[in-house]
Amino acid sequence: MSKRPKYVKPEHREILTAQVLASKRISPNFVRVTLGGEGLAGFTAMGFDQWFRLFMPGRDGSLKLPTSASSLGWYAQYLMMGKEHRPLVRNYTVRDYRAAGFGEFGSTAELDIDFYSHGDDSPASAWASGATPGDKVGLLDEGITYQAPEHTEWSLLVGDESALPGIAGILRSAPRGLEGAAYLEISHAEDKQELGEPEGVRVHWLVRTDPRAPTGALVTDAVRRAELPAGGVYGFVAGEQKLAAGVRRHLVQDREIPKADITFTGYWRVGKAAG
Ligand SMILES: Cc1cc2nc3c(=O)[nH]c(=O)nc-3n(C[C@H](O)[C@H](O)[C@H](O)COP(=O)(O)OP(=O)(O)OC[C@H]3O[C@@H](n4cnc5c(N)ncnc54)[C@H](O)[C@@H]3O)c2cc1C
Repeated sequence: MSKRPKYVKPEHREILTAQVLASKRISPNFVRVTLGGEGLAGFTAMGFDQWFRLFMPGRDGSLKLPTSASSLGWYAQYLMMGKEHRPLVRNYTVRDYRAAGFGEFGSTAELDIDFYSHGDDSPASAWASGATPGDKVGLLDEGITYQAPEHTEWSLLVGDESALPGIAGILRSAPRGLEGAAYLEISHAEDKQELGEPEGVRVHWLVRTDPRAPTGALVTDAVRRAELPAGGVYGFVAGEQKLAAGVRRHLVQDREIPKADITFTGYWRVGKAAG
């Protein structure tokens, strides 16, 4: 039997250009930035947790984009640029996509990104808070990682704020007959969002009210106490590195879920800039 590929990659790789059409704070800790422009015509929406590399202006305020889109090529070119001129590159998820003609702000396609605001010392988070119409960015599509194997019947989705857009995308794209549960840790009750989940999926919000508590402890504890089916479970876990690794370890060691039936991704690490 051939091994399941880890990701569903886009068929075509290209660094696209886009511009900010709108930006608004949608809840206490989330800013939604809408991108548009003719360059988005080259983007193919795949649904689920589709993610991309977002290129934002670098330290000198200009946006210099690599010309190569191959996974090693763009990065080699990025390193060759002097530190002042390098773009700021971070990973984000498609929160929503509207094809050309179906947009809210203009005639081109539109792509929404939900940025979790975690402080103005964090460059991408700060960029989103100050984004204004006309600001230019680049985008390199990386595809989707959610892949429930056919032999699983029940999806367990676990994440923190950074994974909220991905889990929302999965719940909206999944077949309406999907069964499962989603556990989402957030830091303010008003950051809850409508997720459009299938009827058979129960969503649990865990609100971290203690600002000193580490991200992920609440959601990890909730998963440990959760009642899960005895077999056929697929796990999708994303968020802070220790959250992702810890929940995966629990699912493998204590719940005996095969490693191949779990997709886990560290989206960020405490105290470490992603760049
Ligand atoms: C596949 C993928 C998809 C992602 N999708 C999204 C998305 O749609 N929305 C989103 O908000 N994030 C998303 N992330 C996470 C995002 O890429 C990181 O949070 C990134 O580090 C933010 O960059 P920054 O410049 O703001 O902070 P950095 O410069 O990377 O970090 C600065 C400081 O902020 C801390 N930090 C970083 N992220 C967080 C966080 N989420 N919460 C608290 N502290 C943090 C770091 O530990 C560091 O101390 C995704 C990550 C991946 C891998």
